[in-house]
Amino acid sequence: MEYESVTHAKSDRRLGRLPSGSEVSVTLHRYDGGPGPTVYVQGAQHGIELNGPAALRRLHDRLVDTAIAGSIVVVPVVNPLAFDHRSYMTPAEYDVMNPNLNRVWPGDEDGSLQERLAARLWDLVTDADAAIDLHTGTADMLEHVRYQDGETDAESLAESFGTEYLVVDSDETPADDEFSGTFRTAAARAGIPAITVELANSRTVTHSAIDTGVAGVENVLRELDVLPDDPTRPPDQTRLRNDGATITAAESGLFELRPDLSVGDHVSAGETLGTVYSPSTFERLQTPTAEDGGVAYSLAREAVVVAGERIAGLATPL
Ligand SMILES: [Zn+2]
Repeated sequence: MEYESVTHAKSDRRLGRLPSGSEVSVTLHRYDGGPGPTVYVQGAQHGIELNGPAALRRLHDRLVDTAIAGSIVVVPVVNPLAFDHRSYMTPAEYDVMNPNLNRVWPGDEDGSLQERLAARLWDLVTDADAAIDLHTGTADMLEHVRYQDGETDAESLAESFGTEYLVVDSDETPADDEFSGTFRTAAARAGIPAITVELANSRTVTHSAIDTGVAGVENVLRELDVLPDDPTRPPDQTRLRNDGATITAAESGLFELRPDLSVGDHVSAGETLGTVYSPSTFERLQTPTAEDGGVAYSLAREAVVVAGERIAGLATPL
């Protein structure tokens, strides 16, 4: 590989128009070096997921002083509408049909606002040889990288990112399933290996999550030979299959997690996870129970739950 000093360029890309006539645009960073592959990286599809952009700022400081083989294209805040509202989803005032940007890929030039935003970014993905989508979960979630079963290129990117846990999604996503519009599924359909990274701690800028994000993206760049040297990995990586039960609240109320339960624990079939009760009358409304066993990779701590909301995600170790 021919590593050459990085040339950095920053530009704005216009994505759409708001009802007032104001424009929506995102900032795009391009880092070019010697000949090599192109890697696309984006953060903050969901507006409360701050450690993606925070990690990309650190990465920027390192990239501008280095030599690379290939190009890196970065959109740190891909969903400015949700970000500015400090909201997970895009407010319905902007897009009543598609509040979740991560369900509309590859977008539609004539569709709703979010579909247009996605469509006007999509060439960055199809022009790339690999794509990284940075998200964050709650503090009580195992940091992990997701890839689609059977996608061997994406699997090696996921491994090289270097989190201890990898979550493998089923390769069968029917076209009418809402998850067929996730960034990663759409990229896979377009033949671009892509991974979804779930760093820890939505809503807060957390140094450990930033460190994981920077080290992980650099590892993927090493795996693709955009950066020299080999990726550094933990000695053991645990693969979890995302076919375990999602345990949801059957009643709305206050959820109190069993005090001895933490993410990473194995939960057996029939085990209770805590209690949903009424904070007003103190009535016990539900004792959420795991139907099947699995490893708890996410647990609810933001404890007001509404019926249908996720209390825990379980996955099967492979
Ligand atoms: Zn997200």
